[in-house]
Amino acid sequence: MKTFYVTTPIYYANSLPHLGHLYTMIVADTIARSKRQQGIETFFLTGTDEHGINIERAAQKNNRTPQEQADYVVNYFKKMTEAFGLDTAHGGYDIFMRTTEPFHSEGVSEVWRRVAKAKTPKGRDALYKGHYEGWFCAACAAYKTEDEYAKPTSEGEPPTCLIHETKLDRVSEESYFFRLSDYDEALLNLYESADFVRPESRRNEVKSFVAGGLQDLSVSRLHSSVSWGVPVPGDPNHTMYVWFDALTNYITAIGFGNEQQEKKVGFEKFWPALHMVGKDILRFHAVYWPAFLLAAGIEQPRAIVAHGMWVDPSGRKMSKTLGNTIELDVLNKFFPVDAIRYFCLREMVFGQDGRFGYENLIDRTNSDLASGLGNLSSRTLTMIQRYCNGRIPAGAITDENRLAAKRAGVEDETAIADVLGHARDEFIRYFDEFAFSRALEEAWAIVARVDKMISEATPWDLAKDPNQQQTLNAVLYRAAETLRWLGVMLYPVMPTAAREIHQQLGLTDDVGRIDARGLRWGDLKEGVQIQEVKPLFPRIDKAKTMEEIREQKSEVGEQKSEVRSQESEKQGSRPVEEGSGQHATEADAGAVGVANFIDIADFAKVELRVGEVRTAGRIPKADKLLLITVDIGEEKPRQILAGIAQYYEPESLVGRKIVVVANLKPRKLRGYESQGMLLAASVGEEGKPVIATFAEDVPNGARLK
Ligand SMILES: [Zn+2]
Repeated sequence: MKTFYVTTPIYYANSLPHLGHLYTMIVADTIARSKRQQGIETFFLTGTDEHGINIERAAQKNNRTPQEQADYVVNYFKKMTEAFGLDTAHGGYDIFMRTTEPFHSEGVSEVWRRVAKAKTPKGRDALYKGHYEGWFCAACAAYKTEDEYAKPTSEGEPPTCLIHETKLDRVSEESYFFRLSDYDEALLNLYESADFVRPESRRNEVKSFVAGGLQDLSVSRLHSSVSWGVPVPGDPNHTMYVWFDALTNYITAIGFGNEQQEKKVGFEKFWPALHMVGKDILRFHAVYWPAFLLAAGIEQPRAIVAHGMWVDPSGRKMSKTLGNTIELDVLNKFFPVDAIRYFCLREMVFGQDGRFGYENLIDRTNSDLASGLGNLSSRTLTMIQRYCNGRIPAGAITDENRLAAKRAGVEDETAIADVLGHARDEFIRYFDEFAFSRALEEAWAIVARVDKMISEATPWDLAKDPNQQQTLNAVLYRAAETLRWLGVMLYPVMPTAAREIHQQLGLTDDVGRIDARGLRWGDLKEGVQIQEVKPLFPRIDKAKTMEEIREQKSEVGEQKSEVRSQESEKQGSRPVEEGSGQHATEADAGAVGVANFIDIADFAKVELRVGEVRTAGRIPKADKLLLITVDIGEEKPRQILAGIAQYYEPESLVGRKIVVVANLKPRKLRGYESQGMLLAASVGEEGKPVIATFAEDVPNGARLK
C-alpha cells in the first residue's frame, strides 16, 4: 500500500504563532489533502519544539515552569490550527508532536546511542567530546559564525544576532561534538539527486555551503547551563543540543524507538517524509539532519522543500517595528479560511518570496473568488433553478440541433472534455512540483473559458425560445459538470468551498475522497435535484473592511499609548495638551485645487523626490506633530515636521518610502526647522492624512515628474 508522510517544522515554543507558521501549515495541509484524495494513506505532522535555554528563560521571565511555558504556547498553536481548519477534526494534521512527549526522549536517545557508536565515512568516531567556545544565540538555539552576527558598536559589548537583534552569549564549556566535517562528500552525494532539496535555487545554496567546508557541530550543553532538554544517554551531565532533539521528532513521532508509537502510527510504514520548511531553517534540515541520519544508519527523507517568506506589498520584510505584519486574529476575523488558503497558494510563486497585504487579499478574494469561481457557480445554479426546474439538465445535442448549438457558442462535448482532462493532468503535475500558483492558474483558465461560453450563448435569450431548449440545457450541463470538476480539483486548496459546490450541485459523494485522476466527463447525472443556491464567497467591501481592520489595529495602538501615558504619569510628568490652535499640518498638501489649470513649467518648479524615513518621533507639547528625518539621496537626511501624529505611530513610518517636496522654503515650527514637506492625501471631513507611497521599490532621491 502506498503511503505518504508530510511534515511542517515543529515550532519553537518561545513565541506565539504568526503568518509564517500558518503558511507552512497551509502548504503541508494542502499536500496532505491532495495525497489523501488520490487514495494514498497519508500522515501529516506538525507540532512544537519545547526544549532549550530559550524556553527556560521565557519561563523564568513569566514565572512559570518550563513545562508550563511550553503548554502556554502550545495552547495558542492548537487554537490557531482549530481557527484555520488545520486540526484533525477539520481533516488536517494527524499528530501535533511535542518534544516533551516521553516516547520522544526514548526515540531520540536511541538515535544518540547509534550516532555515538558510528564511524564517519572517513573511519573516525562520529561523536567525540571536546571543548567549545563561541557566540551563542539563545533565540536561534545556535552558535553564530562571524557572518551570522553583527559586530558590537563599542568594545567589551557582545555581538548581536542578525536574525533576532539580541545580544549573543559567550559560551565556553565541555561539549559533545558531531564530526560533521567528515560528511561533506556523503552530503554532496545526496544532493546529486535533484529531488532531495528543492527548489533548485535552494539546492545550489546548500551545495555551495557544504562544498565550502563543514565544521564539527557541538551537540550538547552542560546540564548546569541547560537542564531543560533530553539528557545525553550515559552522561547526564550533558543535555542534548535542541536541534538534535528537535529534528529527530520526525521519526520518533511515527514510532522510531518506541514500540507503542510504532504500533499506533508506524515508522516502517510511513518513513521517509517530505519536510516542508521555510528557507530560514534550510541548513538544519538539509545539512545537519541528513548527516545525523547517515551516522545513525537511517534512511534519508524523501525530500526537503523550502518555501519563501512573506514580505509586505512594497517588498519590505515584515516586522513589528515597521508595523506591517499580518495579524492572525485579523485574518481570522475578516476573511474566510478558504480565501486565505487560496491567496497563500496563488500569490506566492513557490520557492520565491511573496507579498502579503490585507488589501491584496481583499482584491484577490473579490476578483478570483467572488467574481470568478463564486459567480460561475451561482449564475450556473441559478439558471438551472430557473430554466430547468432545479434539476441537472441533459448535456447531449442531437444532430439536427448541432449547428444551432455551435452557432450559439456551445462547445462540443468531446472538446470541452479534452480541455478539462488536460487541465486536470496539468493541475496534478504542477501540484506534484509544488507549483501551486501555476496549478491554480490552470483551474482559473477553465473558469474563464466556461464564463465566456455562457456569455456567448446567452442562456437567458435561449430560454425565450422553446426550440432552443436542448441548446440551453447543453450550455447549463457543461457549466454544471465543469463546476463538479473544479470542486474535486480545488478541494485540497479550498476544502470548504469545494464541499459547498458539490452540495449545491446536489451531490452526496465526499469530494475529499474523489480521485482527481479518476474524474470523468459525464459522471454528473441528468435529473439530479440541485440544492439551495448560496454565494460561495460573499464580496468583501474593501473600504469598510480596511477601515475596520485599521480600527482594530488602532485599538491595540491606543492601549499601548494608554500604557505609555500611565508610565509618564508615574514619572511625575503629565500628558501634554496641544496648546494653541496652531495649524501645522504639513501633510495637507493633498488638497490641490483643480479650479485653475497650470502650465507644465509651473509644475516643474516643484521638486518632488522619493525619500525614505530614517527616524520618526513625537515632539513634546505638540500632539499633532511628528519630527521625521528623511533620506532623499542627499548627503544628510532632511528634517521634516509633519502634522500626522494623530494618525501614524512614529515607528510605523521608519523604513517607509514617501514623496517629499524638496524645494520648499524651510520654516520653523515649535523651535524645529522643517526642511521640506511630505505628500499625503487628505481624506474625509476631518482631513485625515494618508501618506503617498510606492508599490514598487524606488531609489531614494528619484525625482517625480
Ligand atoms: Zn538569533
